[in-house]
Amino acid sequence: RRIALPVPAQPVEVNQLAESFNALLETVNAHIAQERQFTSNAAHELRTPIAAVLTQVQLLQRRAADHPEIIPQSLAYISEESIRMKNLVDSLLTLSRADRAVLKLVPVNLQDVVAAALTRERPLLHQTLMVTGTQSASVVLGAAESLEQVLTALLDNAAKYSPATSTITVDLATTATTHIIAVKDEGMGISAADKPHVFERFYRADSARTPEITGTGLGLAIVEQLVRLNHGTITVVDNVPRGSQFVVTLPRVDGKSEKISE
Ligand code: ADP
Repeated sequence: RRIALPVPAQPVEVNQLAESFNALLETVNAHIAQERQFTSNAAHELRTPIAAVLTQVQLLQRRAADHPEIIPQSLAYISEESIRMKNLVDSLLTLSRADRAVLKLVPVNLQDVVAAALTRERPLLHQTLMVTGTQSASVVLGAAESLEQVLTALLDNAAKYSPATSTITVDLATTATTHIIAVKDEGMGISAADKPHVFERFYRADSARTPEITGTGLGLAIVEQLVRLNHGTITVVDNVPRGSQFVVTLPRVDGKSEKISE
């Protein structure tokens, strides 16, 4: 009589399946935890300005009739906090749209994107703005508007986190397969401990949490998402001798080996 032996491959396969399943479960759980954290952070961030507005309204209701002199300051405070709320809600909407978006990608010349962003930003920023690097057409497959949005956000941050008298540089470079836009500033820089977190939703370095610098901590999360939609990557490194440097890398379509597709 022949005895059927267990097929040796089978337990291995089952184990592998179980392992893959567990890995998948872990990813799903991590995702759910992240979503919960995000909702909780968003609620918390909105609660602060809402509470501040409510306090001022109640103050006005109780005291404005007898003390009209408090009215202007109270209204200014309400206006400031309302703007904070509006910015936060606008950013949340932009992020949610970017999370779901699929962009139509067409050949875009980065030189045009840089020129458009600089034309818009130049009148708004105190710093000196410079463009260096590649001068010839740098074509990527992208969505011009979203790339402009990326550049504008990086320039706004560079301006926000560096002194008015410094220089902000947009540097364009090209490798065999990519075009690279780097936005460099001479500001406060980002510590090694903060660097891995700055693209996380709601993350703000302690050094950025001063009364003079306002922000939501969502700007770079939106930027990262938009870069991803353009099939690119973004990293942050130190600028030399000081400040930060955000580096956006996009696949080029004007290389010798690749065709430009519509
Ligand atoms: P925020 O609204 O706080 O500016 P972001 O998502 O745009 O939010 O940036 C996240 C954090 O990264 C900021 O709070 C700040 O700590 C840091 N950061 C971003 N850009 C710069 C920069 N150019 N220089 C220094 N720190 C920066």
